[in-house]
Amino acid sequence: MNIPKKRIKDPSRKDIEQVFLEAYEIGREAAKEGRVADYIPELAKADPSAFGVYMLDGKGKSVFYGDVFTRFSIQSVCKVIILAFALKYRGFDETFSHVMMEPSGDSFNSILKLDMRSNLPFNPMINAGAIQTVSLLTEDFSFEDILNFSRVLCMDPGIELNEAVYKSEFETGNRNRAIVYLLKSKGVLTADPEKTADLYFKLCSLSVSAETLASLGLVISNGGVNPFTGQQLIEPDHVRTIKSIMFTCGMYDFSGEFGVKVGVPGKSGVGGGMVCAARGPMGIGLYGPALDPFGNSIAAVRAMEHISERLNLHVFDY
Ligand code: GLU
Repeated sequence: MNIPKKRIKDPSRKDIEQVFLEAYEIGREAAKEGRVADYIPELAKADPSAFGVYMLDGKGKSVFYGDVFTRFSIQSVCKVIILAFALKYRGFDETFSHVMMEPSGDSFNSILKLDMRSNLPFNPMINAGAIQTVSLLTEDFSFEDILNFSRVLCMDPGIELNEAVYKSEFETGNRNRAIVYLLKSKGVLTADPEKTADLYFKLCSLSVSAETLASLGLVISNGGVNPFTGQQLIEPDHVRTIKSIMFTCGMYDFSGEFGVKVGVPGKSGVGGGMVCAARGPMGIGLYGPALDPFGNSIAAVRAMEHISERLNLHVFDY
């Protein structure tokens, strides 16, 4: 396929379909360069050539190609849901008195800065920060509470716990346990460490699809309102916070480059998922388990670079 690069001003429905098809082709090619995560044994079973991209707009129109209904574990994309839940029930001030809002520039599971520069984790999109945010919820909320919130937020009643992934994370999550206990030793984490680790592992093991993530992206891009029911699921101020943190911290230590090249708030997970909240409103969900060295889906990153360029989606474009 000959892939055009030119930006389209005021794209028609047909243009949009064409751009997503191009992005799908680009992603499928790019997947060949990536590697599936294997540090959680269950993730190593994913098909590295799988790729799907799903777009949903505020009128309910969708465009999708590839493996968009395949279920996979949400992994770090759950950090967006955890943050939304914490902001809703703990509020902004309390949440951010326990975790900062600075990009770390380090890999997702790094504990380097935590021990050298600050007691508080840098932001809620890295493991330490997400675990710390989870610890604010462990005592008062159950896994089922957050699961139900996820189902509503993502318009997907089919989200479930993937037991095999959960078991795999539970058995091998030693680095995450180390983070929990480091935070505990500093007196930063006040909840029960084992309960906190367990809840975090479970939330990373929610099964979603690219379609699910497109709906999540749509709600975020639509100011926290489900456009089909009119229900305000996340307060507008919280959406602003979530989008800002996704923009600055959502792609691990590739967040800066993703911000420059794609310029759309997004979050990826090592299961191969990615959610993007583009203006429109437009939610984009992607799935491609072959990862780049940062832990982002290589197919999703390349596809998003193309989509953003062609459809003029960069937040700083004019
Ligand atoms: N459950 C994974 C971990 O904590 C999530 C990592 C990710 O997706 O970035 O290692």
